[in-house]
Amino acid sequence: MSDLAASIAGRLADVRGRIAAAAARAGRDAASVRLVAVSKTYSADHVRAAVSAGQIDFGENKVQEGLQKIADTADTTIRWHVIGHLQSNKARKAAEAFHWIHAVDSVGLLTKIDEGAAAAGRRPRVLVQVDLAGEATKFGASPDEVPGIFGRAAELHAVDLAGLMLLPPAVDDPNDARPWFRRLVALRDQLMASGVPAARLAELSMGMSHDFEVAIEEGATIVRVGSAIFGERR
Ligand SMILES: *Cc1c(COP(=O)(O)O)cnc(C)c1O
Repeated sequence: MSDLAASIAGRLADVRGRIAAAAARAGRDAASVRLVAVSKTYSADHVRAAVSAGQIDFGENKVQEGLQKIADTADTTIRWHVIGHLQSNKARKAAEAFHWIHAVDSVGLLTKIDEGAAAAGRRPRVLVQVDLAGEATKFGASPDEVPGIFGRAAELHAVDLAGLMLLPPAVDDPNDARPWFRRLVALRDQLMASGVPAARLAELSMGMSHDFEVAIEEGATIVRVGSAIFGERR
């Protein structure tokens, strides 16, 4: 095994162990948490090393970089996630190539992804990004806009709305992210109480390298972890 492969395998094992421990603390099954290895800025060789260590789900925040890596690893059976905001002119390409799309924040974008997926015969799962903090610098639908997006679900042809995604304000202490995770869970519960089917709210994509354990304690079903697996990005 190369040094790169050994170090990525070791870090992955560590992250998986921490996921299992956090799930156990919350009385959850570790299998209810999907680990997305965020490979942005890292090479296809890094991705291959993680695949060799059993990793299946990978995330990229830019469509163009992701498409290149998908092409470079076409011999694998990776499930690709696009986790960053999509410009609407990239919606079609994303729908053609990615299995999950995390950061949909408008009906217009959702419609474009649906059209692209239908034309390509694909069925991506889509999450609605919520901007709970009202941060002007961040993407995401405000909590008020979210019901309107889910209201369109019945009209979609090719996209499965599958839940919510959160990128909370950056904090030093992971515990300070906990209130944001709780608020996303509360919003999910509120949407369910208002009649959105549970299957469209099954997933909560929240938690990154510095706070994924807290996110799992609060109910994350998908954690997006980059640097803890691949090392600090330059
Ligand atoms: C980069 C990124 C991550 C992973 O960040 P790390 O701190 O490296 O784990 C997760 N989610 C999104 C949306 C990102 O852009």
